[in-house]
Amino acid sequence: MLVAILKEARQDETRVALTPDAVKALTGKGITVAVESGAGVQSGAGDQDYQTAGASISGNRADLLSTADVIPVVNALPAADQEQLKSGSVMIGFLRPLDDPAALATAIKRGVTLFSLELVPRITRAQSMDALSSMATVAGYKAVIVAADHLPKLFPLLMTAAGTIPPAKVLVLGAGVAGLQAIATARRLGAVVEAYDVRAAAGEQVKSLGAKFIEVDLGGLQTEDKGGYAKELSPEALELGRQAIAKAAKTSDIVITTAQVPGRAAPLMIPAAAVEDMRPGSIIFDLAAPAGGNCEVTKPGETIVYHGVTVFGPTNLAAQMPVHASMLYSRNLSNFLQLILKNGELHIDRADDILAGSCVAFGGEIVNERVAAAAARQA
Ligand code: NAD
Repeated sequence: MLVAILKEARQDETRVALTPDAVKALTGKGITVAVESGAGVQSGAGDQDYQTAGASISGNRADLLSTADVIPVVNALPAADQEQLKSGSVMIGFLRPLDDPAALATAIKRGVTLFSLELVPRITRAQSMDALSSMATVAGYKAVIVAADHLPKLFPLLMTAAGTIPPAKVLVLGAGVAGLQAIATARRLGAVVEAYDVRAAAGEQVKSLGAKFIEVDLGGLQTEDKGGYAKELSPEALELGRQAIAKAAKTSDIVITTAQVPGRAAPLMIPAAAVEDMRPGSIIFDLAAPAGGNCEVTKPGETIVYHGVTVFGPTNLAAQMPVHASMLYSRNLSNFLQLILKNGELHIDRADDILAGSCVAFGGEIVNERVAAAAARQA
C-alpha cells in the first residue's frame, strides 16, 4: 500500500496535500508513504521533515504516479499525470468535478477511483473532513488582511493630538464560513462592519460578532434549503438585495463579497453602476471570483481598478497562506483517509454515506449523478 504525495502542478498552488504530521500518523500504521522531492517546501515542510516522519523522498514523479495506490492531492492531477496512474488507484482532493468534469476524463477511463472533497456531505460525522470550510476560513481572514494592507487608510478609530481618525467601514456580503471569518477579522482590526445575507439565520451570527446585519424584507421568501445553503433567488429578490447593498457600499471603504449558491454561478450583487458610486480609493474583494464573482466588473484571477475602486478577483486565495491552509487541509484529508484505509489496506465501503456522496468515479464509470449531468453538458 503506497501513498504518494506529489508536487502540485497548478502554477499558483503552494499547498501540499499531506503535511509531515499526517505522514507520521500513516507510517505509524505501517503504510508506506513516498513524497516527491520539494512537494512541501512552499508549505514550510522540507524533504527532511517528511523523512523524519517516515516517508521516502523520490525525484521520479513518473515512478510515483505508476506505483501509487492512493494519491492525495490539493488539485486534480493534470491529464498527462493521470495517464500514468494504475487502474484501481485512488485520487482524493479538490477535483472540481462539477465545474470541469472533462479534466478528470483520463483518470476515469483508466479506472482510477476519484473522491472529491467538494462533494463530502455536510453532515455532522463529516465535519472533520470539511475542507471547503477550512479553506473558506483561511480565505475570509486573508481577504481582510490584503484589503487592509491595500487601503490608503487606518482601520481603527484613533484619537490623536492631531485629531480623530474615524474607523474604516467594511461591508461583508454573504455571511457563511468565509464571510463570518472576514467579519471577525475586520472587527479585530477595529473596523465598523455591516453584513448582508439572504439566510435569516446568518443575522444572529453576524450580530454576535459585533457587526450590523442589513435587513432586507423579501416578503417571507424561503431563502434556505434543507442543507442550510442559500437557494437561488428570483430576479426580484436579488434586486431588493442589490438596492440595499448599493446604498451601504457607497459609504464603505472595503466590500468583501462571498455569496455563493452551490452548483450555480455566483449571484450578481454589485452591478457596475454601484461600483461607480463608491468612493475612489475604496476596495472590493470578491471571494466569489472562482464562480464568476458577485461584482459585475470582477475579473477572476486579476486585480483591476474601475472608476478609482480596486477590485480583487482572487481564484486561489487560500494558497496565499500555505502553512496553515495545508495544515487544515491535511487534517481534513487524513480524516477522510481513515475511512478508506483499514488495517493498512485500501477498503472502500461504497455504502458509507460520506464515501457514496463524495465518490465521483469508480471502475471506469462516473458514479455521481450531478457529475454525470455536468459531464454531459460539457461534452
Ligand atoms: P457558501 O460558500 O455556499 O455561500 C456563502 C454565503 O453566501 C452563504 O451564507 C449564503 O447564504 C450567502 N448567499 C448566497 N446567495 C446570496 C445572495 N443572493 N445574497 C446574499 N447572500 C447570499 O456558504 P458556506 O459558507 O459554505 O456555508 C453555508 C451554510 O452552511 C452556513 O449556514 C454554514 O454555517 C453551513 N455550514 C454547515 C456545515 C456543516 O458541516 N454542517 C459546514 C460548513 C457550513
